[in-house]
Amino acid sequence: MSHTSDRSRGDQDWAPEDRNGPSVISDGPAGMDPDGVIESNWNQVVTSFDEMELNQKLLRGIYAYGFEKPSAIQQRAIIPCISGRDVIAQAQSGTGKTATFSIAILQQITPDNRNCQALILAPTRELAQQIQKVVIALGDYMGVSCHACIGGTNVRDDMRKLESGVQIVVGTPGRVYDMISRRSFRTDSIKMFILDEADEMLSRGFKDQIYKVFKTLNNETQVILLSATMPSDVLEVTTKFMREPVKILVKKEELTLEGIKQFYVNVEKEEWKLDTLSDLYDTLSITQAVIFCNTRRKVDWLTNRMREKEHTVSAMHGDMDQKEREVIMKEFRSGSSRVLITTDLLARGIDVQQVSLVINYDLPTNRENYIHRIGRGGRFGRKGVAINFVTDEDQRTLKDIEEFYNTQIVEMPSDVANMF
Ligand code: ADP
Repeated sequence: MSHTSDRSRGDQDWAPEDRNGPSVISDGPAGMDPDGVIESNWNQVVTSFDEMELNQKLLRGIYAYGFEKPSAIQQRAIIPCISGRDVIAQAQSGTGKTATFSIAILQQITPDNRNCQALILAPTRELAQQIQKVVIALGDYMGVSCHACIGGTNVRDDMRKLESGVQIVVGTPGRVYDMISRRSFRTDSIKMFILDEADEMLSRGFKDQIYKVFKTLNNETQVILLSATMPSDVLEVTTKFMREPVKILVKKEELTLEGIKQFYVNVEKEEWKLDTLSDLYDTLSITQAVIFCNTRRKVDWLTNRMREKEHTVSAMHGDMDQKEREVIMKEFRSGSSRVLITTDLLARGIDVQQVSLVINYDLPTNRENYIHRIGRGGRFGRKGVAINFVTDEDQRTLKDIEEFYNTQIVEMPSDVANMF
């Protein structure tokens, strides 16, 4: 292997350095290049799981989970991840990145070793739990343990669980670091370190905590980064802790808004959105729908207005405590609640299989979030419908989105209900 350059941890202050610099928040206007994409340096494609030389029990788990064929990112990224190389994989949300690293981890785990061998960090608790479920499901026949180490849960239970020995830990940075500081979580046997939603993780307030966690890992640890977008400043940070990474980009053209019918409704004025939504409610609740607003406050406001109109809706955002969020997600996943109002924070990576309809009550404030919000509906053959509420002021933004994704957003027809 040629990737021998040293990664001397601790010398490279990649975390605190730009704390006073421009703050880069993925959905803010601050100085970043929203078009930033990595350049691939890896071309190998393996088009079936059978050809990946996977552990038989893992292969069985994959097929039992319902996967037949690897997705584009899986065809390209699983093999280098298994080879032990550092990897940066960029592909849009919902294209199978979770299974990519989960399969790579499971393939590399030594089942007889009870120590923690892989650590995954994710930006939200829900996402961490979702990843845990995927790992457990895919590893069903392997008898491996995977623990979700997340805020909002009992600290003592977490400590006990970690001290008892778990082979894979998936968590949010704060709680994970807390567990390391308390010496309940020993990181010295970790072979793989995965950052999911890396753009978000490395550009938000998480950076310091991630850095602290990273410093406790041994020098040999493989680093895998997954992200839907890769702004250049985030890419710059990665050079400080990754060794000649394999870079894989699944380009936008290979990804898809395909299969998703995109509409707009010309509401003209902000104050006419509510009635428009209310009129659509019966249509929405035929299927399951997610409604996006741009702020938490707006989510609360809209939820209250909808309830006043006797429409049943659920709402979720980052101000809510963990228990509450879990209950709401469960209700929605099970189908007992059919309309969920939420913010972009939860658009990322949350896998709600049944959702065939997304409404942008507010257009997203940046174009990446458009794909995060609606991109989940149409993959692996699933169809979806997206409806954008557009005020007069939004016309430009809508045009911009259309151009950026080279797609068409047409006026909503009256028989929209027949489309899902
Ligand atoms: P990402 O992490 O890129 O956002 P996920 O891993 O959550 O995407 O995958 C999105 C959805 O696609 C999930 O419902 C997942 O079960 C499904 N999926 C992933 N890989 C495959 C595959 N190879 N075949 C069928 N469905 C898949």
